[in-house]
Amino acid sequence: MLNYNSAVSLRAFLEQEGLGMQKKFGQNFLINPNVRQPLVDALGGAHGAQKGDEVWEIGPGLGAMTALLLEKGFTVKAFEIDNGFIRILKKLFSQDAGFELIEGDVLKTWQTCRSAFPGTDNSFLLGNLPYNIAAVLLADFIEKKHVFSRMVVTVQKEVALRMAASAGSKDYSSFSVLCASVYKVKPLMTIRPSSFYPQPNVDSMGVLLEKRDSRVYPDIFYPLVRTLFSSRRKTIKNNLLSFPGISRDICMSVLEENGLNENQRAENLEIEAFASLAKTIENMRLSK
Ligand code: SAH
Repeated sequence: MLNYNSAVSLRAFLEQEGLGMQKKFGQNFLINPNVRQPLVDALGGAHGAQKGDEVWEIGPGLGAMTALLLEKGFTVKAFEIDNGFIRILKKLFSQDAGFELIEGDVLKTWQTCRSAFPGTDNSFLLGNLPYNIAAVLLADFIEKKHVFSRMVVTVQKEVALRMAASAGSKDYSSFSVLCASVYKVKPLMTIRPSSFYPQPNVDSMGVLLEKRDSRVYPDIFYPLVRTLFSSRRKTIKNNLLSFPGISRDICMSVLEENGLNENQRAENLEIEAFASLAKTIENMRLSK
């Protein structure tokens, strides 16, 4: 058994296996057991993952979190890109019936797995996410309407703050609106660099995302949100003008119908305002 709690042991193990750490894959092992356990625990609980439920794990690395997930009785579908780690993961976990490994870039592989879901009511994700793909991956799930019942992710603190930001705050962005459209975002804890090997330069955060009651958004909702935030310095009017099919006249009447002043900026709009704008534009297109 590997000692996941010690940087010295992990370094020795990697050396013995002829493996190196690859910066481009955002590899930082979570070596602090007092952080790993609460993250895994946050996935469970009364409305969370139960024994036998499937959990998608993004970036298992050498399996520090995987071991805890399997210990809880979850089945694990693990997505890993690093060939060296894949070899080790197979050695450590392939005899476990609850473990499945999906090799390759999760940004490409996850969609091939989604049909395996019975629905979205019982789907879980945990990941100490590689910093370079964290926001892209989470946004991709949301925009492709693949919503998990519950997710526990570790991301850079700055990304966590954007995820949890509300309208009017400096961290509020299109990503905040995306997350809030389907999840309740709950920061769990700040994780210091010393909890990782190798140590990152910045603080990280564990974040819990719980699915909100289903809401239906018009198809243009996400593209519209992105457009309205596309240039932060611009007003909603000027950003909206770059949305396909929006002429000056249409733009003014859409804003008026929604009671919005043309000089407002996206960073001050609540999610309901974006939803309402999307609905107006969609209705207008349908009635054409
Ligand atoms: N969960 C482990 C390792 C986290 S480091 C721990 O907490 O100790 C991030 C992991 O994500 C690494 O194993 C890295 O190889 C993997 N990874 C990075 N980019 C990936 C991608 N595009 N697809 C799948 N895995 C990726």
